Amino acid sequence: MSLLLPPNATIGIVGGGQLGRMSALAAARLGYRCHILTQDANDPAVQVAHGHTLGDYEDSATLRRFAAAVDVITFEFENVSAEGLDLLASLKPVRPSPEILRISQNRIAEKTFLNAAGVPTAPWRAVRSLAELQHAASELGLPAILKTARLGYDGKGQRLLRDMADLAAAFEELSPKPLILEGFVSFACEISVIVARGADGGIAAFDTVENRHRDHILDLTLAPARVQDPVAHAAQALARRVAEALDLVGLLAVEMFVTHDGKVLVNEIAPRPHNSGHWTIDACPASQFELHIRAVAGLPLNEAVRHSDAVMKNLVGPEELALWPEILATPGLIPHHYGKSEARPGRKMGHVTRLFPRGALPGDFGVADALGCLATPPAHA
Ligand code: AMP
Repeated sequence: MSLLLPPNATIGIVGGGQLGRMSALAAARLGYRCHILTQDANDPAVQVAHGHTLGDYEDSATLRRFAAAVDVITFEFENVSAEGLDLLASLKPVRPSPEILRISQNRIAEKTFLNAAGVPTAPWRAVRSLAELQHAASELGLPAILKTARLGYDGKGQRLLRDMADLAAAFEELSPKPLILEGFVSFACEISVIVARGADGGIAAFDTVENRHRDHILDLTLAPARVQDPVAHAAQALARRVAEALDLVGLLAVEMFVTHDGKVLVNEIAPRPHNSGHWTIDACPASQFELHIRAVAGLPLNEAVRHSDAVMKNLVGPEELALWPEILATPGLIPHHYGKSEARPGRKMGHVTRLFPRGALPGDFGVADALGCLATPPAHA
């Protein structure tokens, strides 16, 4: 079914966070209204949206009220149940499909799907018991990373296993089960590609970018990634392959590792706008959020072109948000505040982008210099 949503139509977004906020802002530029399903009327997306439905994501009466208020539905938040999305999909078009959410929500389903599509990942084993963990650890070797299959993000729900003696405690601590054991990838860097695919099968992918984490939370994105051309191209090809294999209609982020010998392995996929694509708001004529909305609304995708190089720095927790006045006073920093009323440690409060002419992205020292007051933020408590 092809859908060409007319201006003034209403796009329903499941989830009220900053990804929904920035999607709603992009939708408004295209003449759409957004209606948010969330649990808190103060959420970042609600503040900039036309309407909202408050309630539990699993409650069928809430889901029906939400569906009745919108013309098409998407999501910015992956911890809604796929069954909830199935109910929504019986009432209004849901893009991306609940099936794609189902795959991306579970690391075992995700890696099974990726490997079947010929997409390389770290070696892995599903783990349902301590005996299975011991067997998997002897097959994959240590160090390895034990993760919950579901409900993990920003490094939550995972343990690094260095020694066979670590197994029992880690198995006990991590929940919900089942778990997945992944071979430890000694990577040279982490990269990602954001790809949009329309209902007609047309694809647009943003340039491969490089991601740096601090305390398991994205700290910096450098656009483009400073990797050899064959690595950047391999990443692009993998992202397109995943989008096609999923029959995606919508936006998808593909996070990858680059090994020291230049191999590209997919770590995880997220069928929604992604933190590593925030730079596109300022460095591209059409951002990841605009392409998300275009794909959901059935509009032509437009190209994912980049007019500038960029560095994106997340503002995490009260320490980094405290730099806001200095950020506002620093020429060249482009500030984005998510409107969250409470700055908790580890919470993403906003981000800052700095643009450079194409081809002029500086080396590490220059990046630190360019970020000025943000170069050496205090360590997290
Ligand atoms: P994830 O929650 O899977 O995105 O993992 C969070 C971060 O942990 C990644 O961005 C990597 O820095 C690290 N990580 C995850 N899985 C592996 C792995 N198999 N090998 C090495 N590092 C990993």
